[in-house]
Amino acid sequence: MTLDSPITEIKGIGNELAKKFAVLGIDSIDNLVEYFPRKYNDYSHVTSIKQMKPGMVTIKATIKQISGKYVRRGMHITEAVASDSSSSARLIWFNQPYRAASIKADTEYFITGDFALRRQKFSIMNPAIEIASNFPINTARIVPIYRETKGLKSVQIRKAVNEIIELIRNLEETMPEWLIKERDLMQRNDAIETMHFPIGQDLLNKAKRRLGFEEVFGLTLAALLNKNELNHERSLSIPFKKEIAIQFTTQLPFKLTNDQRRVVWEIYLDLEKTHPMNRLIEGDVGSGKTVVATMAALMAMEQGFQVAFMSPTELLALQHFNTIKKLLKPLKFDNQVDLLTGSLPATQKSQVNKRMESGKTKLIIGTHALIQEQVKMDNLGLIIIDEQHRFGVDQRKALQKKAGYMPHVLSMTATPIPRSLALTLYGELDVSIINMKPIGRKKVITQLCSPNSRDSLNKNIDKELTLGRQVFVVCPLITESSLLDARSAEQVYLEYKTGYFKNRRISLLHGKMKSADKESIMQQFISHKIDILVSTTVIEVGVDIPNASVMVIENAERFGLAQIHQLRGRVGRSNYQGYCYLMLGDSSQPSSRFRALETISDGFELAELDLEMRGPGAIYGSMQHGQLDLRVANLSDIKLIALARKSAREFLDRGENLLQYTHIAKRVDKLRAVTNLN
Ligand code: ADP
Ligand code: MG
Repeated sequence: MTLDSPITEIKGIGNELAKKFAVLGIDSIDNLVEYFPRKYNDYSHVTSIKQMKPGMVTIKATIKQISGKYVRRGMHITEAVASDSSSSARLIWFNQPYRAASIKADTEYFITGDFALRRQKFSIMNPAIEIASNFPINTARIVPIYRETKGLKSVQIRKAVNEIIELIRNLEETMPEWLIKERDLMQRNDAIETMHFPIGQDLLNKAKRRLGFEEVFGLTLAALLNKNELNHERSLSIPFKKEIAIQFTTQLPFKLTNDQRRVVWEIYLDLEKTHPMNRLIEGDVGSGKTVVATMAALMAMEQGFQVAFMSPTELLALQHFNTIKKLLKPLKFDNQVDLLTGSLPATQKSQVNKRMESGKTKLIIGTHALIQEQVKMDNLGLIIIDEQHRFGVDQRKALQKKAGYMPHVLSMTATPIPRSLALTLYGELDVSIINMKPIGRKKVITQLCSPNSRDSLNKNIDKELTLGRQVFVVCPLITESSLLDARSAEQVYLEYKTGYFKNRRISLLHGKMKSADKESIMQQFISHKIDILVSTTVIEVGVDIPNASVMVIENAERFGLAQIHQLRGRVGRSNYQGYCYLMLGDSSQPSSRFRALETISDGFELAELDLEMRGPGAIYGSMQHGQLDLRVANLSDIKLIALARKSAREFLDRGENLLQYTHIAKRVDKLRAVTNLN
């Protein structure tokens, strides 16, 4: 049996059980080796029967007087008596008719279960039992609890891991010896055995530290190698031209914030270099990233380079097209801007293509269509990617291939990545943060609402409408669903239209509508021909309508903190006070995590909270987290992260050959593809 062997080589795992393991992503032995418990129950304290107290107990006893019987409605009960030298206790199992036959007489067992009152008598309920030994796996120890699936419980996973324990003990070290010594790390085989079968909390912590270290070490190596490679790539220098930048800023209707100025400057310095820029702008919603991107584009356009600006949705592409055209108009660059999305009529597409080819178009704004269509970009100098986390690596790479050399890449995200996560992910890449909102911007007042406060909510909405403002209503579903108890956009739209707001102009917008219809509704909302827009999360990212002041989120409990923060960023984008009402599905008490939305208005702070409570997946969506493969590393452990990053740098400085460490090398290879912004 080797690490690559199929799981069926393990004693007791046949084809049927293997299918269940596969559901958990475990096909081969090495998958199982690294399938770590999600938590542990500490049953290591063995007590005498006499000293048992209500709650979970573990005893060492022999079992007698076993009997099983069916009671009403097919319910089966097994009863037995366990005794040790101090006393006896009753054991009860429900619906486990096989129990009686499997228990041996005159044999000592470890027994772990809930000691509780049933029909006026104390008994140990549904206990786990196993023959007493020096190495119990289900009882009398810190017991590992794994992520389970139907028909495959932790007991079976423990048994399988126990079957390969010798193999685990013989696992080779994956990291350099000097690193293990100098950083005082547990050996890999010990760490993995300890993760599955810890013999103490201290050792478990050491095992987690060791494995977490290795994960962050790998991530950092990937980022470092990406950066080194980029530094060797050539790209065309786009020199800074002061006049054009000044011309642009003097005609702006507002003054750039200090953060915007700093970030624009960082970008201009990057563009001048002859190796490609690889910069991520992280700016909270409404912090004004579009104008920063426009200034980057302008510098390239002015010097004859083409710029591609890719957005995740048609709606956003269109909006950016309109906004950026307007921003560039005073400098007469607006006629060099074109839009290319999948839903454009073929004739229009071919016109745009011609304009691109002839060099008339310098800035092309679009969706994935920029990759898919036969767009010729001969002189592509800069790629701007909005909401970069919404694009896969391959999509970004495909766009890049359109240029013969490496273009500069500017990515933008409104997902505030907490510092610890950003350090790990992009630690070696260039990140610009826009923290500051334009002056005069007020904090969006956020309020949780219970269903019985609907009337007062309606009055609040009405007040704003009367003041001339506009309202977003976001629902988790488009259409009613029998599976989910949540309000749909269609239903809410009807209610608004026929109820309290019947005299207002109301429209419905959702992702299943035709592009042209979506566009026309968006246009009507922008030009204030619509008062209330009922929609799904299609309006989530980027939509910019300064006159909108109210965001109502129906069944708010169905959304994550980060997502709600994005949504409420749609209001309060001007000098009008913004309001966000989070309508809950029922009147039960919302969690404290949810309440935080009322007081915390900083996206970074909320993301930190999401990270603490729900892990990196909550912030980063389904996107990269899975691919990052962080199973053990605790990203709030800043000290460990710093140590692992320092070690990765030292590893390269020492001239170590990564290829000698095949296990790490394999992972680094995968990670390089994920963490490269280019
Ligand atoms: P986001 O960072 O969420 O993409 P936008 O770029 O859409 O934000 O900008 C939000 C709004 O703020 C836009 O209406 C934009 O015109 C405005 N804005 C941007 N920068 C400033 C500034 N320095 N002062 C005032 N308003 C600004
Ligand atoms: Mg934006």
